[in-house]
Amino acid sequence: MEIVNSAKDMQMVAEDYRLEGKKIGFVPTMGYLHEGHLSLVRQAKKDNDVVIVSIFVNPLQFAPNEDYESYPRDIKRDEDLLKKEGVDVLFYPSVQDMYPDGFQTYVQVENLTKVLEGRSRPTHFRGVATVVLKLFNITKPHRAYFGKKDAQQLIVIKRMVRDLNLDVEIVGMPIVREEDGLAMSSRNKYLNGEERKQAVCLYRALRRAEELIEGGVCDAERIKKEMEDVIKRYPLAEIDYISINRISDLGELDRVEDGNTLVSLAVRIGKTRLIDNMWF
Ligand code: AMP
Repeated sequence: MEIVNSAKDMQMVAEDYRLEGKKIGFVPTMGYLHEGHLSLVRQAKKDNDVVIVSIFVNPLQFAPNEDYESYPRDIKRDEDLLKKEGVDVLFYPSVQDMYPDGFQTYVQVENLTKVLEGRSRPTHFRGVATVVLKLFNITKPHRAYFGKKDAQQLIVIKRMVRDLNLDVEIVGMPIVREEDGLAMSSRNKYLNGEERKQAVCLYRALRRAEELIEGGVCDAERIKKEMEDVIKRYPLAEIDYISINRISDLGELDRVEDGNTLVSLAVRIGKTRLIDNMWF
């Protein structure tokens, strides 16, 4: 596996692949890899001739009060995992290389970023969209892989790709979960023993929603109320939001629309903020 540290070098490597007629699959990550990330890598391997993975903890998508400094990092372990998966190139740039002095250009996806995560994290998606566009320009992928774990991120990126005519196919991948249902996340590392046990509440609430929807309940208020009741059984959990939205434009729904409904929630367990969702 080739490790590339500068954007310029990465562009040359990617351009060479393109000249050789190779299809490039790209998986952007912030590292501290788990099976969720690796599921994206495996799909990228299947669909493309070469796979580029980036590891970059993007300061632009963290607010000053968030966990940029303490975000878990373990590059050696990540390298080993990616080598085992047969990844061709790891792009691992520095902050200085991605945001040199004088940097001042940003991508703002407007309405989709004002709801859900955007309400608690108003500058988050500007940071995400900006770094993803930069990474696309640097790695020149034919296809890029994103997890449904970050549902709003996936929807925002798809919108950006359409709006800016980016020539890349966005592939959304299912959420990979721990045995008890907790969605895998690098941030799960922050949870202590008791918090880890109670973190299952997000999945339990989503399962309740699933049960109701499959039983024919469409009323969003009722579903949200029952999800809240599930979360309230866990004393360490504090709800940030529980929301039911249209997938197409993230507008809030009063009634579940078959095939176009995102049920999502953000919950604090102690100091750790977790998100999860299901698509119906
Ligand atoms: P991150 O390193 O957290 O920025 O995540 C990198 C990519 O992996 C994003 O597209 C995430 O949505 C995806 N991802 C993170 N956790 C999971 C998971 N449990 N299942 C599937 N994809 C995931």
